[in-house]
Amino acid sequence: MFATSLRCLRCGRSATLEPSAYLCPHCGAGNGTTDPGILDVQYDYAEAASAFVASLSTGRHDIFRYLSLLPVSQPGDVLPAGGTPLVAAPRLADRLGLRALYLKDETRNPTRCLKDRATAIAVTIARASGYHDLYCASAGNAAISLAGFCAHQGLTCHAFVPRIASVTRLDWLRRYGARIHVSQGNYDQAFRESEEAGALEGWYSRNCAFNPYLVEGKKTVAFEIAEQLDWQVPDLVVAPVGDGCTLGATGKGFRELRTIGQTEHLPRLIGVQAEAIQPVVRRYQGRTPLETEEETLAASIAVQRPRNYLRLRAELRASHGTMLAVPDSELLEAQSLLSQESGIIPELTSAATLAGLLRLSTEQDLSGQSAVLIITGGRLDSNV
Ligand SMILES: *Cc1c(COP(=O)(O)O)cnc(C)c1O
Ligand SMILES: [Zn+2]
Repeated sequence: MFATSLRCLRCGRSATLEPSAYLCPHCGAGNGTTDPGILDVQYDYAEAASAFVASLSTGRHDIFRYLSLLPVSQPGDVLPAGGTPLVAAPRLADRLGLRALYLKDETRNPTRCLKDRATAIAVTIARASGYHDLYCASAGNAAISLAGFCAHQGLTCHAFVPRIASVTRLDWLRRYGARIHVSQGNYDQAFRESEEAGALEGWYSRNCAFNPYLVEGKKTVAFEIAEQLDWQVPDLVVAPVGDGCTLGATGKGFRELRTIGQTEHLPRLIGVQAEAIQPVVRRYQGRTPLETEEETLAASIAVQRPRNYLRLRAELRASHGTMLAVPDSELLEAQSLLSQESGIIPELTSAATLAGLLRLSTEQDLSGQSAVLIITGGRLDSNV
């Protein structure tokens, strides 16, 4: 294994690699107005570089294809996450005046969502460390992902969901046999409740915002995009933003490829939130985030207190990226455009990628550029 240590993205202190080293001991979880001390896995890149190239000819097509840049020493015997297609969308490219537009179709993961990449790491580490119970807080997708992977392995999944979790999502959880804890509050409250129960019971955490190993699984989406484009990175990569782990991880993946000499450039990262709940957009623009009572149909990114902001900010800056907010009406339009002009049906949250790019195209000339939309999930709720 080429992972060497953990480094706090808030104070810079180092911590040792241990399965349950979730947060910086010095900074802790933050108090809601201060950021948590999230940890970042460090690697010996000089050593990992040649192993990375060698592993490309192993014939594996799940996330463990990139084992040398993952925080595990062996592939886990888990459901195969990743290895999803990059689909060209020429009709949408024309509409936006782009040279090329691709959709990274994460709906093809085992539980229909990019979250499976993180779950694969969590379950691999949990098994190797002797845990039988795992927990997570989730608007649905992360919990469903964990429930599916636990079902496959005979482990117990404790899912903490907000009061307004959709009927469809609860149904998926039940089908997989998860233990469901419905919070009286929103996602942020469910997150707190999950952390309390997890610490008390000694369960393993699948909360991507705190467990530093999980974003390492998510970053493989960047490795795949680059490899599928023959290591020519696109100009723009767009993703929906909730806690910030997905896009932050994507940025880390592209940066690592450049570090090991596999690629030359970084794509500009474009993060998109719903207008009703846009704390990351506001913070990135230097404005104060507002706790709001407003709601969005984009449940998977309805996060009031983004816990991976420090990671995402660093990646946005490194890539000269930006954050955008779009109203639900534009999400609904983009969802139907994707279905009718690309043949991929995204969940509403994932349509934020196209809605954001359409917005950007009215502000900047994108002609001649190439872009990738990360279609993070494809589970439809009954109403959206
Ligand atoms: C969780 C999720 C996101 C956002 O990921 P964060 O890491 O919370 O920013 C985006 N799309 C879908 C479908 C999700 O489930
Ligand atoms: Zn710290």
